[in-house]
Amino acid sequence: MAGCIFCKIASGEVSAKIVHQNDHVVVFRDLNPQAPVHVLVIPKKHIENLSSSEETDLSMMREIFSAILKVTKDEKLSADGFRVVANDGKNGGQTVNHLHFHVLGGRPMSWPPG
Ligand code: 5GP
Ligand code: ZN
Repeated sequence: MAGCIFCKIASGEVSAKIVHQNDHVVVFRDLNPQAPVHVLVIPKKHIENLSSSEETDLSMMREIFSAILKVTKDEKLSADGFRVVANDGKNGGQTVNHLHFHVLGGRPMSWPPG
C-alpha cells in the first residue's frame, strides 16, 4: 500500500534489520526497542490490523505464528519467556497501520500495560 512504511520494509524500499523472512512474512528489529530483544513480525500483504483481518487471512496468521515461534527460538527467548503484543486501532495504541506483532524479551515485563 502506497505510503505504508511497513510495506516499504517488506518490499526492501526502506531498510530495516531483518532477522527472518519468507514469501509471506518479514521479521525485523524495532527502531525504538523497548526490551533487549524487540522484533516486529508482519505479513508482506498489507492488512491494517486484526480488526480488519478476515477468515481468508487465517493461513497468513499461521505463517505469522510460525515466524514468532522461530524467532523466539533463534533469539533464545523460550527458556525465560517473552511477550507478544498486537496493538489494534485507537484504543490499542496502534501507531503504524500495517498489522504487526511485537515480540519482546530479554527482561521481565510488568502487567498491566499502560
Ligand atoms: P505500534 O505502536 O503501531 O504497535 O508499533 C509500531 C512500532 O513500529 C513501534 O514500536 C515503532 O518503534 C516501530 N517503527 C515505526 N517505524 C519504524 C521503522 O521505520 N522501522 C522500524 N524498524 N520500526 C519502526
Ligand atoms: Zn502496509
